[in-house]
Amino acid sequence: MKILFVASELNPIAKIGGLADVIGALPKTLKKLGIDVRIAIPKYGIVDEEKYQLEKIAEGIKINFYNKDEKFDLYQCLLPASEVPVYFIDHQKYLGDNGIYFEKSAMPEDSLREAKRFTFFARSVLEIFEPLNWWPNVIHCHDWHVGILPFLLKSLSLKDKRYKKIAALFTVHNLEYQGHYEAKDISEMLDLPIPEKNIDQNKKINFLKSGLVNSDFINTVSPNYAKEILTKEYGAGLEDVLQKRKNELRGILNGIDTEIFNPENDPKIKYNYSIKNLEIKEKNKLYLQEICGLKQDSKIPLFGLVGRLAEQKGIDLISEIMDEATNLNCQMVFLGTGESKYENALRGAEKKYPEKIKVFIKFDAKLAQEIYAGCDIFLMPSRFEPCGLGQMISMRYGTIPLVRATGGLKDSVKNFQFSIFNIQSTGFVFEKYDHRELLKTIKKALLIFKNKKIWRKMQINGMSQNFSWQKSAKEYIKVYEKLKVLNNYSTLSS
Ligand code: ADP
Repeated sequence: MKILFVASELNPIAKIGGLADVIGALPKTLKKLGIDVRIAIPKYGIVDEEKYQLEKIAEGIKINFYNKDEKFDLYQCLLPASEVPVYFIDHQKYLGDNGIYFEKSAMPEDSLREAKRFTFFARSVLEIFEPLNWWPNVIHCHDWHVGILPFLLKSLSLKDKRYKKIAALFTVHNLEYQGHYEAKDISEMLDLPIPEKNIDQNKKINFLKSGLVNSDFINTVSPNYAKEILTKEYGAGLEDVLQKRKNELRGILNGIDTEIFNPENDPKIKYNYSIKNLEIKEKNKLYLQEICGLKQDSKIPLFGLVGRLAEQKGIDLISEIMDEATNLNCQMVFLGTGESKYENALRGAEKKYPEKIKVFIKFDAKLAQEIYAGCDIFLMPSRFEPCGLGQMISMRYGTIPLVRATGGLKDSVKNFQFSIFNIQSTGFVFEKYDHRELLKTIKKALLIFKNKKIWRKMQINGMSQNFSWQKSAKEYIKVYEKLKVLNNYSTLSS
């Protein structure tokens, strides 16, 4: 079974959010399960060629783009700590400059540079099989960036039989990011007419919709989100498209890389610990308080948040409760980048309550781990959350998540129940997207924090969960097998 992952992010080589974590972890598990899995990403300027030992394996591969012969080179390395080959498409003009995305908010809308970058990338990927002499059974496409690829695959397969044998699986990591562009612009790039079914109500081509309607199977990253996106509330305007394909839509819960996210040997944290010596976690808390310039006192509950500062993440709810929360004898540390209004709101709160709140506006993988290890409670009051990894990582580090019951958060966190004898819970969960609900839940968590026995039990419950990729990787393999059989059958019968 030969699978090619195609995506815009890959941990640790090019990461912004959870998409990178998935692309950096799931293939490792698939490989161990016997799948010949490989990954293709753009060779962005930020890719550290020396660190990851990139090697040029082909050059001058041609594609037609804007009616011109463009040539790109192909580089390769192995995904760190694995045998998974990673291919990098190298083209200075369209892929090489800047970071991963041009738009700070990661909202692709209206940035033609973003459209050129990812259309060029998707088109190029389809030309690497011949030079590699390796043709995948399934191209596994992730999110809007490569949403155009299944359509391109279909149009190529009309001319070349070899493409006909390849199936496309499309995974939605976030339905909100879609990529709308003028169809004539994309048509010009590709020298192809864009069929109506790729077009949105606003008359533009919608990359995500194109992925949904042209792929052979669709999945999203948690069972609950797979149901939610069929509704108007969560469907981001594509609920009707998804309804039509609901028999070919599945929710497969993400895992985390339990080798990287392991408090026992994580080199990014100061004091390693495990479920057996959980008391050492406290030293990480005191250290985190020190680097945050907050009062060092293990009795003061410490909240943490690591994430993209986007509307989705519930930062507005947090802003609304800041005055009351800081009255509750607790501390808060935030790490994130994103929309200016949220960055400014957090900076404002830090200025107002410097003894209680510390804000880091940056991307910092080491500090993120220090927060997961050092905090008592991890905040994820998301408006929506396709899966969410922060809650899983925090549980693995004995930090109790406080989340809203949405998407994968609902699938992965068990809410606290008052029961003296049989505490199964792993976190605190609230239902309604409302700041009063959040505040109430924070107060509840602070109350339980005082009971060291219950708290320890909840930490142990969280740390004992199995968030590895094993189970979900096997579900993906079933999907690949089904697609391989279906595609072989349709190629034979056509
Ligand atoms: P999303 O995919 O919506 O961004 P997830 O919870 O699925 O959210 O995954 C976020 C991932 O990105 C986690 O691994 C988190 O630790 C990491 N992350 C997000 N923001 C930062 C940041 N500013 N610095 C370091 N890591 C970050």
